[in-house]
Amino acid sequence: MITKNEFISILEENKNQISPLLMEKADVIRRENYGESVYLRGLIEFTNYCKNNCYYCGIRAGNKKAKRYRLTREEILSCCAAGNALGFQTFVLQGGEDPWFSDREICEIVWTIKSRYPTSAVTLSIGEKSRESYQAYHNAGADRYLLRHETATEDHYKKLHPENMLLQNRKKCLYTLKEIGFQVGAGCMVGSPGQTLAHLAEDLCFLQELQPQMVGIGPFLPHIDTPFGKEKAGSLSLTLTMVALTRILLPKVLLPSTTALGTLTPEGRKLGLKCGANVVMPNLSPPEHRKDYTLYNNKLCTGNEAAEAVQSLCEEIKMTGYLPDFSRGDSKMEKFI
Ligand code: SAM
Repeated sequence: MITKNEFISILEENKNQISPLLMEKADVIRRENYGESVYLRGLIEFTNYCKNNCYYCGIRAGNKKAKRYRLTREEILSCCAAGNALGFQTFVLQGGEDPWFSDREICEIVWTIKSRYPTSAVTLSIGEKSRESYQAYHNAGADRYLLRHETATEDHYKKLHPENMLLQNRKKCLYTLKEIGFQVGAGCMVGSPGQTLAHLAEDLCFLQELQPQMVGIGPFLPHIDTPFGKEKAGSLSLTLTMVALTRILLPKVLLPSTTALGTLTPEGRKLGLKCGANVVMPNLSPPEHRKDYTLYNNKLCTGNEAAEAVQSLCEEIKMTGYLPDFSRGDSKMEKFI
């Protein structure tokens, strides 16, 4: 058990430049638990309509400049067919909180994907829902659920979200998802406005307590048409430090090297892998919509970020010293082996 103060001192020591020792420790632990595998997931960003108004996010309801789209069921299934042909065995369905997609619609989509590709896993990332909704998605066959907690400190959460959004509810959702039996992903942004090292240490303490199977960590990046449009981006060294500490804290965690990290700096994805990350999620959405899922400025959606370029991404992974792995890549935490 690492204490909050210990986390703060490690973050302080590494905030300007991550120490090679910390990177190496994370890499050794990742190799002990997952070998050289880097799991590939196909990401389908199926709607950018959102009823929420998170101050940092480009697809917030209040951004009237966002060009909105939602994929039809058939379009989502075509993305899966394309992904299946490319070899993907996990489909991650992510979107804004879009009430147009009823629970019934989500369940039918999940059920159809699972019946067409029975050996594949389906991950949902569609925000805060009731226990009944989560249970219905799980009954329909969904395997995993991503719901970043964003920040584990009450007053900081309030700085990032309007009053109707509550950290308490977000945390409750995460525990409910775990109880239902999902492989659960939490996570946070690094460098979001008003964040201190103590807040990041609190995020690590929360992860230590929750014991999620997956953790998504990326830098905060500003989006021009949001209230935080003029804030500065999160730092590379602190993001990498958080990734490495998460690997050390949760040796069996599935940890993506995120698109935001790749957007922050061209070497970001490779550096993430060297700091303990073992998942990448190239974009399988229809190319004509990719630029409209703009959570932050300049979000990568071309080059090795595009699922069609998977061969080139595999080369990049090999050159970084790891092995691309197209298997389902379930969590190795006891319950899911
Ligand atoms: N609606 C779902 C939810 O709330 O979990 C999933 C979609 S949400 C857009 C996915 C993630 O994008 C969020 O959890 C947040 O961490 C990240 N995100 C949004 N805006 C961002 C920004 N400006 N910089 C970095 N990450 C951002």
